[in-house]
Amino acid sequence: MIQAEQLALPLRLETDLPEVFRRVLSRLRIRTPVASLSAQFHPFAGLRSTIALRNDVLKAQVSDVLAEASPLVLEALAEILLCKIFHRRPSREARECYLAFTFRPEIRRRIDEARRERSRKRLLPPRGRHHDLEEIFHGLNQRFFHGQIPTSRLGWSRHKSRRILGHYDSGHGTIIVSRKLDSPEVPRYLVEYIVYHEMLHIRFPVERSGHRRVVHSREFREAEKKFPEYESACRKLKHLGG
Ligand SMILES: [Zn+2]
Repeated sequence: MIQAEQLALPLRLETDLPEVFRRVLSRLRIRTPVASLSAQFHPFAGLRSTIALRNDVLKAQVSDVLAEASPLVLEALAEILLCKIFHRRPSREARECYLAFTFRPEIRRRIDEARRERSRKRLLPPRGRHHDLEEIFHGLNQRFFHGQIPTSRLGWSRHKSRRILGHYDSGHGTIIVSRKLDSPEVPRYLVEYIVYHEMLHIRFPVERSGHRRVVHSREFREAEKKFPEYESACRKLKHLGG
């Protein structure tokens, strides 16, 4: 037996969102040329979805509260968004289908939770004054993970924590780096090392050994040492934390 938790990467069954938008786009027979289309789930605070069309490029962001919604609901929302941007009237079926979904009690609950959690955890954007976490994440993903780590939410902490320099919040799929590291005195490789460590938490989720939770497993530690500046990063971090 293999459990999802035992797989190296978290498995999520998600609807192919761009495909849904493409399908609805062709069903609506939109004449306006669309050269490319991107659609993805986004952790908005609450049930918010956005759509924009710039230079033939269509970009939709759908509240991740809908990540597990049925394809029917997603199609309804895609229709509403596409109609909005192309000045059409969405069908009554689409409007009713989406509305009914948003009023389901478990969905209301999730919207409230998302709102509460995200406003509490609001982070500073990934592009800091000196270091850009998003760029660092993507670079590391290519260099060390064959691009296999799912895109995570990234951000700098509000407070300049000295004790906790990095943290991976698995509940929200978020990597948080202490703003203390967004400084010209901190070399880029040090921030890279922190992000790399947190990415390893995604690569090697917490294991269970009897009643113990193994957060940094042996494989985790071994992979960590593959970071080229591992030793000097550890030395520097000791100074910073002290
Ligand atoms: Zn750790």
